[in-house]
Amino acid sequence: MSKKNLFGITIDELKVELSKLNIPAFRADQIAAWIYKRGAESFDEMTDLSKNLRQQLNDLYTIRMVELIDKLESKDGLTTKFLLQFEDGANVETVLMRHNYGNSICISTQVGCAMGCKFCASTLKGLQRNLTAAEILAEVVFVNNLLQLSNQKVDTIVIMGIGEPLMNFDNLIQFLKLIHEPYTLNLSYRKITVSTCGIVPNIYKLAELNLPITLSISLHAPNNELRSHLMPINNNFNINEVVAAGRDYGDTTGRRVTYEYILIDELNDTIKHARQLSNLLKNQLANVNLIPINPVAEKDFRRPSKERVKMFYDYLNSHGIGATVRKEMGAAINAACGQLRISHNNI
Ligand code: SF4
Repeated sequence: MSKKNLFGITIDELKVELSKLNIPAFRADQIAAWIYKRGAESFDEMTDLSKNLRQQLNDLYTIRMVELIDKLESKDGLTTKFLLQFEDGANVETVLMRHNYGNSICISTQVGCAMGCKFCASTLKGLQRNLTAAEILAEVVFVNNLLQLSNQKVDTIVIMGIGEPLMNFDNLIQFLKLIHEPYTLNLSYRKITVSTCGIVPNIYKLAELNLPITLSISLHAPNNELRSHLMPINNNFNINEVVAAGRDYGDTTGRRVTYEYILIDELNDTIKHARQLSNLLKNQLANVNLIPINPVAEKDFRRPSKERVKMFYDYLNSHGIGATVRKEMGAAINAACGQLRISHNNI
């Protein structure tokens, strides 16, 4: 009989498991702390449990998280990209970025992606499968365990790695609730950003939950023609529907929505595009994050010059749209979504 994996279990579920063995409920707090906060990968490490209890747990359960199969570090030491593998061999990327305001990690929610965005390496072979809530949690706990070795921790999470989080909605929500629990990382919802390419019905669903998380919408084009060209999902939910859903999210939660806009040389970075974008977003609780593209080896997109980026940025800010240019981290280590995975898996 295969052993049950306790990683990803809630404390109430753990108490139920322990009650089957006549183990008192307070042990659940100790065990959960070992699993989620203290980096234990086996029951033998749980030194405040008796030997007998550890053996009992060993006989029936396991704590399986993720396996590190590759790692890339930027020259400045600020960005580390991990390729993490789950039990079935599926792997995803998780990126740690050390900012001056804390440690931020970018996590994946699916193995591959079905959304087909033209500028993205993660979608080249489509979607393999959804990650479970436990697997998403494992990405965070893995990095947190590493940080703890130098008395640090994960401070903020952006759910912007491989996959479309809102296409894995239930597991995403289960993960968000888990990571917020005091017995895991006790992370405030305000420290979490969920990014979507614009799955409109699920943006409304997320707003209804009214969790104070930041929503980030990948827009990348200011009109339907160009957006459909870059992001096929625009054929299902057009740009006006996406922006209306973003407006509703901001109104319902009171949280400012971030619109991500990858700048691609001469494709979407002209003043005409900046004008269309500012018209689209005016009077909305929103800001725009401009991201000069990291060229994808398989695609023919060029990065705009600094002057073109500044021109776009200046236009938005002088027309009432708060814009920032994303600080570059990790371009030199294939930090753009999906590139390490692609090179490793030979796909
Ligand atoms: S950008 Fe995001 S939604 Fe689009 S294909 Fe890549 S992973 Fe999927």
